[in-house]
Amino acid sequence: MTDCVFCRIVARQTFADILYEDDHLVAFKDIYPKAPVHLLIVPKRHIPSLSEVTDADVELMGRCVRAARTLAEQTGFASRGYRLSVNTGPDGGQVVYHVHFHFTAGRKRKTDA
Ligand code: AMP
Ligand code: ZN
Repeated sequence: MTDCVFCRIVARQTFADILYEDDHLVAFKDIYPKAPVHLLIVPKRHIPSLSEVTDADVELMGRCVRAARTLAEQTGFASRGYRLSVNTGPDGGQVVYHVHFHFTAGRKRKTDA
């Protein structure tokens, strides 16, 4: 039994509200949503963070970005727009060390550079 919460969700050992799944990734609702739509796109392979992505992961990362389009269409935000973001490392605000993309939509954002 892994102590990585996202690996446990992938293995269905921890519940998540999954909206999309394929052989490579899952997408599910964030338990503490920070926007009206807040989903996490999570590769099934355990990669701790963007800092540890290698050339072998490039296709998988592309699949995660591609999944955002599917989720946008599924949630009705394809034309209004949405945001995809990756918190990385301590100063990047990363809490769960299994790389994931936040998909947020439904709220206008102020600048956040
Ligand atoms: P971060 O590592 O800062 O990019 O954020 C991790 C995100 O995972 C946070 O937004 C949490 O609310 C979310 N999260 C943590 N545990 C779970 C879980 N069991 N199910 C769904 N979302 C989770
Ligand atoms: Zn993991």
